[in-house]
Amino acid sequence: MNEPLTREEDTDKLAHFRSIFREELIRHRTYRLDLFFRLQFPNEESNKKKSPESLDPTDALASSAPISVRQHVLFKAISRNFGRLASVANETLASATDGTLDAARFRSLAAAIRRLDSALDRFDAAITASLTDVDELTGLLNRAAMERDLERELAHARRNQSPLCVAMVDADHFKRVNDIYGHGFGDAVLEELADRFEAALRPHDRVYRYGGEEFLIMLPETTLQDGVQVIERLRQTVSETSISEDDVEVFQTISAGVAQAGEQDENEDVIERADGALYEAKASGRNRVVAVSV
Ligand code: GH3
Ligand code: MG
Ligand code: MG
Repeated sequence: MNEPLTREEDTDKLAHFRSIFREELIRHRTYRLDLFFRLQFPNEESNKKKSPESLDPTDALASSAPISVRQHVLFKAISRNFGRLASVANETLASATDGTLDAARFRSLAAAIRRLDSALDRFDAAITASLTDVDELTGLLNRAAMERDLERELAHARRNQSPLCVAMVDADHFKRVNDIYGHGFGDAVLEELADRFEAALRPHDRVYRYGGEEFLIMLPETTLQDGVQVIERLRQTVSETSISEDDVEVFQTISAGVAQAGEQDENEDVIERADGALYEAKASGRNRVVAVSV
């Protein structure tokens, strides 16, 4: 599937678009019923004012779709199928009106409807998955998405004999931040950490909110040595710049454990090892990265 939507502002736009999408679908289905009525009674006056162009809500949808949706292959597929249905419906109606409607044309109308419906189902599933995969506070992908992605990456690494690293990252003494400055400021720190992680990582790396103040970073095609370098750079970037809101300013540090996946590893094996390394990083003083080999 395409890139999931991972930033918070995208989530809002996507949720908004989703409600417009649903309204347009309801309208579309009503027009569809009208169409069948008109095919049955082509010369009935009461239905003539509705044109089959109303069957194609592509323009209305495109104007409210976030760019990530507009560029999505599934969105392009439904636009194409809406357009095709509108034109087949036009031809079918014209032949019903002049009394030449035959089985072949009717079959092609049914086929256009079936193709559109299957594209709509896939598109709807993709939007729903994108929304439920996103952590609401940070806009990062959540743990459920991580479990699925990690399973896939482990299989890929096994098949291609390519290295894969996983890092568990945890904010240091985060309870204190909440206790001293309040939960709201703590939330702002987590959001800022998520932004910094995404900015510092390479395009193929993925960061997930594992839970609370813990994050999991997946580093495909990455040896342990390179993985440690990437996470060490991340740790430095985070610790060097303060995080502030209103008149509060903190230097938040993070600790991390990095593990390379082994041939036989399932999700929980590699996560457990990264977690063990994180525990060591905490025990040996925090604000550091510890690596564990297979
Ligand atoms: P350590 O360095 O050992 O990790 O210490 P810590 O204080 O970070 O760890 P601990 O597990 O004791 O506390 C984690 C804190 O993270 C407690 C919890 O309230 C806070 N936390 C978890 N999720 C959120 C959240 O979504 N927002 C805020 N503001 N705080 C959170
Ligand atoms: Mg912590
Ligand atoms: Mg923790």
